[in-house]
Amino acid sequence: MKARVATAWLGGCSGCHMSLLDMDERLLELADQMQLVYSPIMDAKEFPANVDFTLVEGAVVNADNEKTLRQIRERTRILVSLGDCAVTGNVPSMRNLFTKESVLQRGYAENAEVNKGVPKEVPPLLANVRPLHSIVKVDLFVPGCPPSADVIHFTLTELLKGRMPELTSLTRFGK
Ligand code: SF4
Repeated sequence: MKARVATAWLGGCSGCHMSLLDMDERLLELADQMQLVYSPIMDAKEFPANVDFTLVEGAVVNADNEKTLRQIRERTRILVSLGDCAVTGNVPSMRNLFTKESVLQRGYAENAEVNKGVPKEVPPLLANVRPLHSIVKVDLFVPGCPPSADVIHFTLTELLKGRMPELTSLTRFGK
């Protein structure tokens, strides 16, 4: 039976998903061994139950991210923190130097030329941007900004073989 694999995109730039797509033809080899059941690169509305591995990009920046992450944790056997934003907060956490009110004011009023003001659709910001492991248990950390396609490929192939990948010699923060 194929492994059920998901990816998710929280507060990140999508660069980690671009790196995942950079696996190119190796994606086809992986497709023989796994079934992608949820991802921003496919049309799936609801995070499914019984997922074997989920790779999560991005930090937790707002209430929607936190709710999504908790649901992913409940429904995933091995949760992978993918990329420096997920692992440490990285770029998004630079806003932790400011209040969330001043960040919203800056983004939606001071720097806006039309329709000044925070749209009601914007989810409530958390007081601080947080890495995944400060909210839920994380099983594997994959540093890098973004992690390379080779590192993501190695991570997935090891997980599919039932092993926890040893990444310390392959990747580091910011690379
Ligand atoms: Fe983008 Fe780097 Fe964050 Fe990945 S780790 S989401 S590439 S800023």
